[in-house]
Amino acid sequence: MSKGRFGIHGGQYIPETLMNAVIELENAYNRYKDDPDFNRELTELLNSYAGRPSLLYYAEKMTKDLGGAKIYLKREDLNHTGSHKINNVLGQALLAKKMGKTRLIAETGAGQHGVATATAAALLDMECVVFMGEEDTKRQALNVYRMKLLGADVIPVKSGTATLKDAVSETMREWTSRIADTHYCLGSVMGPHPFPTIVRDFQAVISRESRAQILKAEGRLPDAVIACVGGGSNAIGSFYHYINDKDVRLIGCEAAGRGIDTFETAATVNTGKLGIFHGMKSYFCQDEYGQIAPVYSISAGLDYPGIGPEHAYLHDTGRAEYVPVTDDEAVNAFEYLSRTEGIIPAIESAHAVAHAIKEAPKMGRDKVMIVTISGRGDKDCAAIARYRGVDIHE
Ligand SMILES: *Cc1c(COP(=O)(O)O)cnc(C)c1O
Repeated sequence: MSKGRFGIHGGQYIPETLMNAVIELENAYNRYKDDPDFNRELTELLNSYAGRPSLLYYAEKMTKDLGGAKIYLKREDLNHTGSHKINNVLGQALLAKKMGKTRLIAETGAGQHGVATATAAALLDMECVVFMGEEDTKRQALNVYRMKLLGADVIPVKSGTATLKDAVSETMREWTSRIADTHYCLGSVMGPHPFPTIVRDFQAVISRESRAQILKAEGRLPDAVIACVGGGSNAIGSFYHYINDKDVRLIGCEAAGRGIDTFETAATVNTGKLGIFHGMKSYFCQDEYGQIAPVYSISAGLDYPGIGPEHAYLHDTGRAEYVPVTDDEAVNAFEYLSRTEGIIPAIESAHAVAHAIKEAPKMGRDKVMIVTISGRGDKDCAAIARYRGVDIHE
């Protein structure tokens, strides 16, 4: 496969002015990715600060209740700052520091990636500026406060629909105008090469751990690995070390919103078309003119109109399956996991749980599945209450 490509996907569809920045980043990454000192430092941060390795928990009650495959949960919700985002952010922040950068910039939608980046910047003594759609700053006021508390500047983005995709565009613009001291800490496996590869490598810690953990617990590999997909970073991290094990089914759960037969959806593989946006070729939700379509999901973290290029390739080759999960199914799963296992998952992760609930009973009791819980659900409680018609003050 040619450099930076996943089949026909990926690439570097960026303005000339950004080329120097991505070349500098690629060179630095190639220099440090196998460097023992860099990896020792990163592992130390992941273990002593973020709380890794995360647990692989046997969900016995859920397994018995559903009556099929044995279900294990990979508990990324237990990481510091409450999701898998910290894995990637600590890696990129450390890399930026090695490159002599003193300032991190990032996009954020719901605020999870912004909070993780502001956290790493505080820890590593770096300046931090987070770009966030103005609509999202209103919907996620608590996360705006968190980022400021951690010492970051939060810039509301007013262009376009004033949501995540506009925040990404604005952060790229800012990076173009200030490359010397600034690293763009991108939050998912998307954007121009080398980001999809860098972010995947930092998130691959999820499957590196889960593979060893399941071999220890069950003495064999799982039959299926299930994860939710926004841009696709927790999913690719969950899949990566199983890609060559052809008997392990890899299942990504997309946010269908109100359904894939409506316009209120964010299910990119199931409803999107091939396109070029945010520096990459991949699948995107588009309107009849090929413009990026407004997307909708109850889950702000899955509310992105594209999917990472490696997922697009895994879909093309049939190695992974991408299934739609509606708001309703996700909310039911959010409540189900809370009641059954005493674990409140992020509403994003609840999309993966919802599919596990459908899939486990179809599989024999001798089968094993791993479901990634990408984050914890405290942040979602007020919105889910509202969905159920209860208004609570945050
Ligand atoms: C951001 C986020 C996601 C979606 O991002 P991916 O890159 O697709 O993993 C999923 N779950 C949680 C908890 C998140 O914060």
